Amino acid sequence: THFGEQTVALEDKQGLVNKVFHDVADRYDLMNDLMSGGVHRLWKDAMVSELAPPRAGTRPYRVLDMAGGTGDIGERIVNASMGYAEVVVADINADMLRVGAERARSWRYPGQVSFLEANAEELPLESNSFDAYTIAFGIRNVPRIQKALDEAHRVLKRGGRILVLEFSQVDVPGLEAFYKLYSDRVIPPLGRVVTGDAQPYQYFIESIRKFPDPALFGSMLAKAGLKRVKHTSYTGNIATLFSGWKI
Ligand code: SAM
Repeated sequence: THFGEQTVALEDKQGLVNKVFHDVADRYDLMNDLMSGGVHRLWKDAMVSELAPPRAGTRPYRVLDMAGGTGDIGERIVNASMGYAEVVVADINADMLRVGAERARSWRYPGQVSFLEANAEELPLESNSFDAYTIAFGIRNVPRIQKALDEAHRVLKRGGRILVLEFSQVDVPGLEAFYKLYSDRVIPPLGRVVTGDAQPYQYFIESIRKFPDPALFGSMLAKAGLKRVKHTSYTGNIATLFSGWKI
């Protein structure tokens, strides 16, 4: 099996995705910075500002950061809440979580973050138990996206919010051609230099090209039962933030 243009069965897709993140886990954070020129940090900051987690309250504020990998979003949310929010960083990949747990030891509020191995399609979590569900650059890796969104809706409390940050198709003239060239000519070789293998990054580019457009993805959120669905584009449409509420 390779990741080329061929379509892979859904069960196989998860296997391929798991191998990719197993292979890159230790270099994942470095690659993110190199490939995005650090810009992924700005998008993640923008996502957390949009969430605006409370800094105090009468009840705990619980967040599920799905496909949370090495914990970037979890750390940001806890910091933004001045240590009030409790974040469960969940990911299907134990290697990504291991890197996250090591990093977490030096975070400002390490006690507010826990790590959970879980598949977004089938969460081992109670219904109506989270105030927010976040997923950054994760949903396009999940084979059955609708199933994951249904699960997100299930675990959210009424009044809870979902935020999905994901790459999108660049359609801004000028930037489009540059982005394609960058994706095809820069990312795979850069991936090979840093991680010893270009294939995971070939997968990465294709998974972005295959991800549903904002209108279709928005309708999937609505189908899962989420209300007031909207989206905002960042940096010439390279990334898009989706928001919805469980009302
Ligand atoms: N959220 C982090 C970030 O923004 O840097 C990590 C994103 S990383 C590109 C995608 C993550 O999705 C990987 O850690 C991968 O293991 C995880 N993933 C893939 N399929 C998954 C699934 N079915 N359930 C949960 N996590 C999954």
